[in-house]
Parts: sequence; structure tokens; C-alpha cells
Amino acid sequence: MHPIPDPVPSDATLPSRVDAVVIGGGIAGVAAAYFLAKKGHSVALLEKGQIAGEQSSRNWGWCRTQNRDQRELPLQLLSMELWETLSRETAEDLGFRRNGLIYVTKSESELATWSNWIDMARQYQVRNTVLSPAAAKRLTPGNEQDWIGGIHAPTDGRAEPTMAAPRLARAARALGVSVHQNCAVRGVDVVGGKVAGVVTERGRIAADVVLCAAGAWSSMLLRRHGIDLPQAGIRSTVFATTPGPEVTPGGLVTPDFTLSRRLDGSYIVAAQNRGRLEVTPQGVRYARQFWPTFKERRKSLRMGVGRSFVTGPEAIARKWSFDAPTPFERHRVYAPPADRGVAGPALAKVIASYPALSGIGIGGLWAGWIDVTPDSIPVISAIDQLPGLFLATGFSGHGFGIGPGAGRLAADIVAGDTPSVDPHAFRYARLVDGSVLGKPGMM
Ligand SMILES: Cc1cc2nc3c(=O)[nH]c(=O)nc-3n(C[C@H](O)[C@H](O)[C@H](O)COP(=O)(O)OP(=O)(O)OC[C@H]3O[C@@H](n4cnc5c(N)ncnc54)[C@H](O)[C@@H]3O)c2cc1C
Repeated sequence: MHPIPDPVPSDATLPSRVDAVVIGGGIAGVAAAYFLAKKGHSVALLEKGQIAGEQSSRNWGWCRTQNRDQRELPLQLLSMELWETLSRETAEDLGFRRNGLIYVTKSESELATWSNWIDMARQYQVRNTVLSPAAAKRLTPGNEQDWIGGIHAPTDGRAEPTMAAPRLARAARALGVSVHQNCAVRGVDVVGGKVAGVVTERGRIAADVVLCAAGAWSSMLLRRHGIDLPQAGIRSTVFATTPGPEVTPGGLVTPDFTLSRRLDGSYIVAAQNRGRLEVTPQGVRYARQFWPTFKERRKSLRMGVGRSFVTGPEAIARKWSFDAPTPFERHRVYAPPADRGVAGPALAKVIASYPALSGIGIGGLWAGWIDVTPDSIPVISAIDQLPGLFLATGFSGHGFGIGPGAGRLAADIVAGDTPSVDPHAFRYARLVDGSVLGKPGMM
């Protein structure tokens, strides 16, 4: 069983012309559509399956500053404010709570890495704290283990992945955004070397600007137009428990597992180091760009070949016609297979650490396909090669919490307004012009 996003009504007819088309109803696309509508633009939001059907409902829900790449921090801080203001101004509960995130460890080097991050983040007024062994113990009541220390991020928190993007989409619709689900974009309509709209499975929509927020499908979509986007996928498996007593209010990282407390009293559990990097045709294409990141991250990844070699966003897709079904329609909601071996051992570790949870069981198991860029930070940018085309994608496993800010920044850039934060680090060109990309931040 996988998470079921809240329902969102679709509009019956496609508009013939809008100011902006947004491709992809994940948190990035939905937030961008919302903020574009707030700026007074007419917007069509097109989703091949269901709003939040892919990554945006399958994640842990963490909205965190802690351990974030420095280049993303201003955008994340903006997002933390937006989570709060959005909940107020939309009158929708997006499930956002600043319940705090706790990290505990038995490793000196891990603790040093985290506390160095805290030193760095002080310049941004982030006030997360390093925990002594006693304080770490105090913040993990009921846990039988001893820690050498940890980190507390008291103003970080979680939102509910099944609620956030769908409810924001409903709020966007109330602002006039035309929302279309089960409506794949087959490609961008290009006339005279610039964007003239999109071609969907239900017809054309004319627009001078198109924002591609297609998550793991962005690279494939752009390749159809001769635009290179180095993007790789990591298959990540998590499971949900049945409801149980509260042992942590928000999120907790331990050496063996990560616990995320949901509003219904259940937990999402992730076993550590279980991301799977699958060899795919797209992965081979961009292997050179990803090699430095892969070396940096190889301890936290397993490698393998799976069905993703022949099906899904990274399989070979020859140039398709706009007049026939495309790979996007064939995968309304891409649901990669979950790694079935993960849940049992991880649940046993959770219960061994927290005897109070001995009554819980497995309530669901699923995987998500995480789209990663070579430097593990997103692209929120114009693409100069095709005037009128913009990107908000490549969130590299931490795009949910930063989603509202990413959507706002994308809307600023699309509208030609002063950007809410400096967008330089997120420019598309860095991935293709030989720029030195720098070390990827922590996941
Ligand atoms: C297991 C797991 C745990 C995670 N935990 C966290 C976390 O705790 N905190 C955090 O910040 N991030 C987390 N993430 C990452 C986060 O979920 C993603 O970064 C974020 O949801 C990406 O949002 P998005 O809008 O870019 O993409 P998506 O949510 O994938 O949305 C893209 C949408 O585009 C649609 N689409 C694609 N092609 C087309 C087309 N041609 N036409 C129309 N529609 C199209 C897709 O159907 C999809 O719905 C996690 C991810 C996973 C898988």
C-alpha cells in the first residue's frame, strides 16, 4: 500500500490560451502555479496522473534547515515562512508543524560534521543546537540506547505529503488556476525558435511561457527538444507503521533508522543507507557528470539493475510523435517496486530501540523515484536555449520541504519579477557549461 494523496478536482475543459503552463503537479509545480496565480497570471497546471502521485506524496515530509546544502539555505528559510503563511492564507491544513527534528549518533565524525554545519548556519540565524550525550538521551525518551550526542533543530518540522501539494492545488484552483489531471504534456510547442505553448494528450494550449516541473521525467521531456538535463534516479523504499504511542513529536534520525511521526499517529520509517542507484540508459548517458557525486555518496547507496532499465523515466525513449501516446501517458503514476526486504528488519530495530512501540505493525510499504542533479541542488531557472522555457526540478531527495520557496522563486523568474532569493546557484547553465559544481551537500 502506498500513500494516497488527497483528491483534487480537475477542470473540465482545457483553456485555449494562458499566460503560463506548468507541467507537473508535484509540490514544485503546484507551488509555482499558486504563486503565479497570486501575481495575476492565468495558469494551466497539467499533471499526467494525479496531483502528488509521485515523489511529493511518497516522502517523509521533512521540512528542514538542518544539514541542508548552504546554497539552499536562504530558499529553505523562505520556505519555512511560506509553509506557515500558506496554511493561514489558504485556510487549508497542509499538515505543517514545527515539531522539531532530532539527530542522534554514536559516531564522533558524524557529530563533528553536523556541528560544523551548525557553525556555518549561524550566519543565517539558524539556531539549531548540538546535544550532549545526556541531552540526546533526554530528547529520545523511551529509547534504550546511549548516544555520544546529537543535534536538535527545534524550528524544523514536517508537513503531510498526502495533504500538502493536493490542498495547495485546491487553493491554486480557487485563485483561478486551471487544473488538469490525467493530462500528459507530450511536448513543448515551439514556433520560430521560442515557446508557443504545449501539446497535451487532449490538445494544444497556447502560452508564451512554460515551466517544466516534471520531477524525474524532466530530463526525458527536455531531451525531446534537444535540451540536455543531467538527471539521475535513486529508488528509495520506506514503510509506514500502524498508529502507536508518540516517542518523538516530529522526526528522529538514529544510526539504524529514521522515524517521522505523522498526524494520524503512525510513523514513516526509513532504514539507513537503503537508497538504490539503478543503472539505466539515462544514467549511462550522464555517468561522467555524476561520477564525483557518486564517489562522495557511494557508502549510502547500493547499485543494481532493475526494471527501470527498460521502463520509466530513465529508459530509452526514442523521439516520439505528438500525435500518439507517449511514455508519460504509459506511466500515469510511476510507482517503482518497493524493496520488500527493508521493512521487517527495520521494524524489528525500531521496536528493539523503543519497547513502547512493540504493538505496531507495518501499515504500508512503497518506493519513490528521487531525481538527483550532479551537485544535488535543484535547477530553478530559465533555459536560454529555448526562450519561454523554464525549469523547477532536480530537487535531489530534499525538495518537499523547500517546495513552497522553490515554487515562489520559479514564479518570480517566470514572471520576470525580482527573485525572492538569489537564484544564481540554481541556474540551468551550470550543469552544461563546464562550471565547477562544488561538493554535493548532505542528503
Ligand atoms: C522516500 C522519499 C523520501 C523523501 N523524503 C523527503 C523529505 O523528508 N523532505 C524533503 O524535502 N524531500 C524528501 N524527498 C524528496 C521529495 O519528495 C522531492 O524532492 C519532491 O517531492 C519533488 O517534487 P517535484 O514537484 O519536483 O516532483 P514530483 O513530486 O515527482 O512531481 C512531478 C510531477 O510531474 C508529473 N509529470 C511528469 N511528466 C509529466 C508530463 N509530461 N506531463 C504532465 N505531468 C508530468 C509527474 O506525474 C509528477 O506528479 C523524499 C523522496 C522520497 C522518494
